[in-house]
Amino acid sequence: MAFFEKLGKKIGDAAEAAGDKAKDFAEITKLNNSISAEKKEIDRLIVELGKWAFEAEKSNPESPVAIQCSKILESKKNIESFQEKIEEIKSGPDLEAPVPEVENLEIVTCKNCGAIVPEGSKFCPECGTPVDL
Ligand SMILES: [Zn+2]
Repeated sequence: MAFFEKLGKKIGDAAEAAGDKAKDFAEITKLNNSISAEKKEIDRLIVELGKWAFEAEKSNPESPVAIQCSKILESKKNIESFQEKIEEIKSGPDLEAPVPEVENLEIVTCKNCGAIVPEGSKFCPECGTPVDL
C-alpha cells in the first residue's frame, strides 16, 4: 500500500510541478510581451529624437551628427528630383499618342539606279537623278 501511496504522491507532485511550469511559461510570455512593448516605445522615441536632432542640427556644419544630416538632406534632394521627373513624365507627350512608325523613317533609294540616297539629298549620289520625295 505504501508503494501506491508514494506513487500517488509522486504523480501529484508531477502534476503540481507541471502546473507551476505552465504558470511560469505564462508569466514569461507576459514579461516578454512587456519587453517588446518597451522596445517599441524606445524605437518610437529614438525616431522622434532623430527627427528633432535633424531639425536642430541640419544647418550646423560643426554638429556631431553633421554627416547624418547631410545624408538626409541629400536623400531629400533626390526625392525632389525624382518627383520632378515624375511630373515631367506626366506633363510630357500623351502616352496614348501613336508612336511614329519605323516605316516612316525608311531609307530613300534612287528610283533610277536603286542607290541609297542620304537623307536630305536632292540628287542621287550615284547617278545624279533628282530625288522626288
Ligand atoms: Zn541613282
